[in-house]
Amino acid sequence: MKAEIIAVGTELLLGQVVNTNATFLSEKLADMGIEVYFHTVVGDNPARLEELLQLADQRSELIILCGGLGPTDDDLTKNVLADHIGVSLVQNAAGLEALKAFFAQRQTTMTPNNLRQIETLKDGIPLPNRTGLAIGCLYKGKKNNYILLPGPPSELKPMFIEQARPLLEKEFPTTEKLTSRVLRFFGIGESKLVTDLADMIENQTNPTIAPYAKPNEVTLRITAKTEDEASAKALLDQAESEILAKVGEFFYGYGEENSLVEVVVDLLKENNLSLTAAESLTAGEFQATLGKIAGVSEVFPGGFVTYSKATKASFLGIDSGLLEREGVVSEACAKAMAESALVLAKTDFALSFTGVAGPDELEGKARGTVFIGLAQRGKTTIVTENHFSRDRSYIRHSSVMKGLDMLRR
Ligand code: ATP
Ligand code: MG
Repeated sequence: MKAEIIAVGTELLLGQVVNTNATFLSEKLADMGIEVYFHTVVGDNPARLEELLQLADQRSELIILCGGLGPTDDDLTKNVLADHIGVSLVQNAAGLEALKAFFAQRQTTMTPNNLRQIETLKDGIPLPNRTGLAIGCLYKGKKNNYILLPGPPSELKPMFIEQARPLLEKEFPTTEKLTSRVLRFFGIGESKLVTDLADMIENQTNPTIAPYAKPNEVTLRITAKTEDEASAKALLDQAESEILAKVGEFFYGYGEENSLVEVVVDLLKENNLSLTAAESLTAGEFQATLGKIAGVSEVFPGGFVTYSKATKASFLGIDSGLLEREGVVSEACAKAMAESALVLAKTDFALSFTGVAGPDELEGKARGTVFIGLAQRGKTTIVTENHFSRDRSYIRHSSVMKGLDMLRR
């Protein structure tokens, strides 16, 4: 079933309210195997809403409207839809009782316009509102179907989950369900990933592959449409192995939430290994990132923030001569910081970060130049030279992510 969501409200168009209702509904509908093809937002304007309904009628079988079910004059969604379909509005008896009880309990008088909230489309199925007063509605038309939901998310969500969803499942049973798997990548930009996978992304209809860029990483959502779980798994496995054959080098984990730092901390825990860090330009951001993970103390005893030359020498015991000769933005400094931290903290790994976060250059090195050292007990220290882009905060974040990625490999 092709669906679309129309959010009604001038406040949405003015940018005062974010259209989270559409996000919520889309996600729930996708889980039910109902495909949403359009999200639109229209102001509290009857003519433009009618125009949109005419368009929606041509392209969607299920049209969900949210917002504008309240008592005031600008709440006109119900009236416009009733006129559009050509049905009248009727009072909902249970809604009227709830409305009366609400005002009795508050000991205030009900004004006539409150009655507008309990009107529903004649021959529609009313949707009671457990957390508010406005009644929603499911209307099964000859060609298309309509759902009316209130604007406030605290009313829309329970009404959809408790009332609309079970009705939809009963009235329009679908045999096919959507199953998704999210793959996460670091070290490859979205444009490169999309280019490398262009054939698959363009030609594949089941499963579909959708890329999504986040700061310093990219995710791919693979979605299969099947009747049972086993065939969904088979389709997703097949697509995943084709993807990994092309860009597997950059893949680090699954899921929407599972971040690179969690993957790294889990790896350290599994292998009973410990980690420290000595940070210059990131000034503790790497260690703060570790600190976000509960139980990280098992693998992270502590570390160093050495911002100046003086603290690099006094905290870490780095030779001042080396710092003068090579500069702090150097491979030699990153190596010395990591090796010294490793010895002082007695860990299995030590990362070091030194570079130019900007905005100005330092020691003649451009903003974004960052040396990251990885010392490992009994192994030769590795240092990467990186040239990150954008602003100060992005450069620091890029450094943290790159450090995590060096550890993971
Ligand atoms: P009310 O009875 O509160 O007037 P209503 O159904 O008439 O409810 P609106 O007047 O359109 O709903 O919106 C009420 C409030 O709900 C808005 O001010 C806004 O905070 C929130 N809201 C409306 N639409 C959305 C949306 N699409 N996404 C998120 N929040 C929304
Ligand atoms: Mg309103």
